[in-house]
Amino acid sequence: MKVSQMLNPTLREVPAEAEVISHILMLRAGMMRKSASGVYTYLPLGYRVLKKVMQIIREEMDKKGGQELMLPIIQPAELWLESGRWNVYGDELFRLKDRHGRDFALGPTHEEIITDLVRGEVRSYKQLPLLLYQIQNKYRDERRPRFGLMRGREFIMKDLYSFDRNQAELDESYHKMYDAYSRIFTRCGVQFRPVEADAGAIGGTGGTHEFMVMAESGEAAIVYCDQCTYAANVEKAEAVHVRENSTEEMLSLEEVHTPGAKTIEEVSGMLMLSADKLIKTLVYISDEETVAALVRGDREINEVKLQNVLGSVQLVMADERTVRDVTAADTGFAGPVGLKKGIRIVVDQEVADMTNAVTGANKTDAHYINVNPGRDFDPTLVADIRMVKGGEPCPRCEGKLIEARGIEVGQVFKLGTKYSEALGAKFLDENGREQLMVMGCYGIGVSRTAAAAIEQNHDQDGIIWPMPIAPFHAVVVPVSTKDENQMKIAVSLYESLTGVGVEAILDDRNERPGVKFKDADLVGYPLRIVVGSKAAEEGTVEIKHRRSGNVETVKVENAVDHIKTIVQDEIAASLKC
Ligand code: ATP
Ligand code: MG
Repeated sequence: MKVSQMLNPTLREVPAEAEVISHILMLRAGMMRKSASGVYTYLPLGYRVLKKVMQIIREEMDKKGGQELMLPIIQPAELWLESGRWNVYGDELFRLKDRHGRDFALGPTHEEIITDLVRGEVRSYKQLPLLLYQIQNKYRDERRPRFGLMRGREFIMKDLYSFDRNQAELDESYHKMYDAYSRIFTRCGVQFRPVEADAGAIGGTGGTHEFMVMAESGEAAIVYCDQCTYAANVEKAEAVHVRENSTEEMLSLEEVHTPGAKTIEEVSGMLMLSADKLIKTLVYISDEETVAALVRGDREINEVKLQNVLGSVQLVMADERTVRDVTAADTGFAGPVGLKKGIRIVVDQEVADMTNAVTGANKTDAHYINVNPGRDFDPTLVADIRMVKGGEPCPRCEGKLIEARGIEVGQVFKLGTKYSEALGAKFLDENGREQLMVMGCYGIGVSRTAAAAIEQNHDQDGIIWPMPIAPFHAVVVPVSTKDENQMKIAVSLYESLTGVGVEAILDDRNERPGVKFKDADLVGYPLRIVVGSKAAEEGTVEIKHRRSGNVETVKVENAVDHIKTIVQDEIAASLKC
């Protein structure tokens, strides 16, 4: 390919629409353009990167026995009604009607469609296990599409679904995918960490891991142990709780005047008590029911844990009116003592152990001191419902947890029989008995992975592609296109490189060398071969390594072999994982 012919509109300016570096650089490097919020066109260079990521994924899926197919994007509402998700998926589901008024959805994920396929085609245990996958556009009407390819409304995903005969075989499929994912992300040249995660809306109770690319710009917060392999999304991270038998004597409950003190800081300042002596009471609507959730004053509530404990489909903070209704006070003065009757009180395990704590008094401008759980109010439920932070003990060993941020590039789930039960996907076992298929699902954000790779691989000049996913391995840059000798050598190098399987392009534009070098750095080709005056005079060219910045001078006649070896070695190294 010649750069003069290529649709590669690079930009000098930082586009106003972009916040994170991957988004900025993909726009500047002419790899993508916005079509609508969260919807993008992938330009030729951007699409080459995506195709490489897809190819790596395909190879690793196929190696594990995955079979590629293609499911429809347009999915009938009936299947979603059958699984029970039509009404719970919410606004993220793109819904549409056909000319007959029938409801459809644009697939955000494909459990329903694939389960429908398999229930119709698979009858016998002999046909299982099955690992079926596709790489396709997904549609999610995200509340906040942002960060370019990171959170799109149309994005590319690889999704594989496993169908097994029993739990033990599901564990095997899960293990295979976990292993394949580790290889895929290693081959894509990103640093990642698998973390324990929450199953969220997709459901299933058998366990799930997210693969996180470590990056400051990541939307996910994770913790990992400084000594063992424990790592978890903070939504999931377990709090270590050692029960303390308090020796403190329980004092009598007392109401104190706390005018205007609504926040933990204000109350603790006014009463001269540290935040860990206070109890934070938060009011939620769990589906239709109002509940109170209590955590220690110095802790944050973990809504994901709370929702799991309650088993609710939807959990939202109560509005001011509801708070006033159940507490008879302004917001900021809620507490578990004297709360409206019938409200469930979910208490964090730490709170259950507190002695003489402070809570709101359900009265504006008043708090209780010397509140003792069990004596002054009855918790309906005691559970781990708080956020875990860096510095806390590891739940698996003696180590300490470290906080970090990550980009979720993939997730593996053990679904169990959730969908096979809802849709009736059964098979006949060895004894001729009907059994439910045991399922798993495994997703990789293809477009998000490409963006995540940039978050980790860039400098002030542009992208630094890892060799296995670079749009081209090398760019050949003649310093002066007017110089016939230089052009002859450059063209010959470019053609020979292409001939030996190196993906090369020729920057034949009649531009100043500085412009061409800047573009080469911006786009991030791993190797730049500069053909200048020395090419004709001394028979040498310069090879610049984008990542290290190192420049090698090599003889023209050795250049092709040398470059081929560099490319092959780097790709071979990425395969050794
Ligand atoms: P998130 O928590 O980031 O919204 P998710 O848990 O909803 O993601 P999954 O349903 O597990 O995502 O989808 C599998 C993979 O698809 C994710 O790991 C991620 O890499 C990718 N993905 C999900 N949503 C988006 C999106 N809006 N844009 C780009 N990639 C996405
Ligand atoms: Mg997920």
